Amino acid sequence: MVTERKKVIRIIVDAGHGGEALGCYVTPGKRSPEPPPVGVYEGVLNRWFARKFCEVAKAKGHEAINLVGDAVIDISLKDRCKTEALFANKNSVFISFHNNALGNIWQDQATGPRVLYKSNKARKLAVKVAQELSAKAVAIKGWRSIYRQRKYLYVLKKTKSPALLIELSFMDNKEDVAYFQANVNDYIDSILKGLENGLESEGSND
Ligand SMILES: [Zn+2]
Repeated sequence: MVTERKKVIRIIVDAGHGGEALGCYVTPGKRSPEPPPVGVYEGVLNRWFARKFCEVAKAKGHEAINLVGDAVIDISLKDRCKTEALFANKNSVFISFHNNALGNIWQDQATGPRVLYKSNKARKLAVKVAQELSAKAVAIKGWRSIYRQRKYLYVLKKTKSPALLIELSFMDNKEDVAYFQANVNDYIDSILKGLENGLESEGSND
């Protein structure tokens, strides 16, 4: 199949958890074992990434809607999904960005992103995004498959668009979270390329 024109994807972006203002981080837990500047607050890191992701997606000709934007408060999952429904159309995809942790002490075992999905339609996207992430952005050894089905996650169950939840790095692994921040553009490019590949192959017979 020859694709003559790149499909414009409407990417509905969610940044997990609440953010920070005036030195106050509004989300219990969801942070590195030490506060910034040594560690990170997850909601702040998710917001930073979501903003950058939307900028690049728009520059590449896609539509990007940042559900959380600059809001500091932790918008309820229910409200996020209600807003998603308003924007959902036949070209939309929903992505919720998060960062991972094994526990509340620094560790060096778990690394790298995880791409989570629920529906079969989203699985195709998850596979492509995971392929791009492991091929380009992530030079960490010993990985197997980094996409997983998760049936119980609220935003994967309650959204209308094919939905992914991407855990970008382990914020309790200093090396991993630093690698992610230093190579953020590679992560963004890989995710966008994975979405484009996943949606372009729709309708073909492969
Ligand atoms: Zn999270």
